[in-house]
Amino acid sequence: MPSTSAPRHHGRQDALSPGGTRVIIIVALSLVVVGLGILAWVFLFPSDGDNNGNGDDNGNRDADPVIPSPDKRVAFLGNLGKMMATFREENNGRYPHALQELIRDADDQKAFRKRIREVLYRPPSRQDRTEPKTIIACDARYFDKQRCVLRADGSVQALSQERFDEALTMEGNALMARRIEVVAAVRATGARHSAARGLAGPIKAMCVARLKGIGTAGAMYRVQRRDRAAPDLMILLEERYLVPKSLFCQGSSDPDGGYFYWPTSRLLTGTMVACDKTGNHRTGRNVLFDDGRVQSLSYEDFADALAQPENADFAAAWRAFEGR
Ligand SMILES: [Zn+2]
Repeated sequence: MPSTSAPRHHGRQDALSPGGTRVIIIVALSLVVVGLGILAWVFLFPSDGDNNGNGDDNGNRDADPVIPSPDKRVAFLGNLGKMMATFREENNGRYPHALQELIRDADDQKAFRKRIREVLYRPPSRQDRTEPKTIIACDARYFDKQRCVLRADGSVQALSQERFDEALTMEGNALMARRIEVVAAVRATGARHSAARGLAGPIKAMCVARLKGIGTAGAMYRVQRRDRAAPDLMILLEERYLVPKSLFCQGSSDPDGGYFYWPTSRLLTGTMVACDKTGNHRTGRNVLFDDGRVQSLSYEDFADALAQPENADFAAAWRAFEGR
């Protein structure tokens, strides 16, 4: 009986509507109150309470929420200094390209891998490494309003914000100062990127373009540096060959950038130099080769390519990075 039930239904709706409106207002007000409560909570008790909010965004999702005490951080950096000295003895004085290179020498590799995510490292230039006060590694952020530093002479120290900022203006630390700037810019871009992640876009084409951009930047760096490859991607940003956006493909979720990079010591032999980090794409990875080529490889083909002798260095670094 649609003709009779329809008006009755209509009438009931009319009768209920003032009450309904009241319920909606009450629910909305409750939601606002709860929302304000959550906001107040977040502001009063930020998850990393000792971050001074100086703009160093910690987008590190799997970071340990318990920040080690300054003593422990200083001890870790001291240990890092010793590991670096051993590494240099074994590698003709070369500094590691990235701290990941030291993982295989760590006692507890898993803990080490996690810990170095909160350490900022900048391989010193030839000139800076002879200046004993040059900071080569430090806490990635201020913790307890302090930054612990490792210097070129192997000494370690916990510095207040003022003393750290002052140290950055001193001789030998211009590159570290620039590195801190660049990493903060990349993380800010990474945080914005993560928020917008998943929006529609030509994922593959964009990623290939980004990797080609990295290849071009690397080639320009080589021309300027008598054919020496850039030790890491951040150096390409420090020297303005790239902008922070260049490090993120549409699928990246790592706030430090979506690409793994490893410099090749050989010349134009078709070795891999950069690729998508795991999780960027469901079906495989885009890979940049040292001759500027970019290829989309399935996970299987990627594993095959890693096993090629010319990619041995890249493969070792990749495994250290991935923890496999
Ligand atoms: Zn990608």
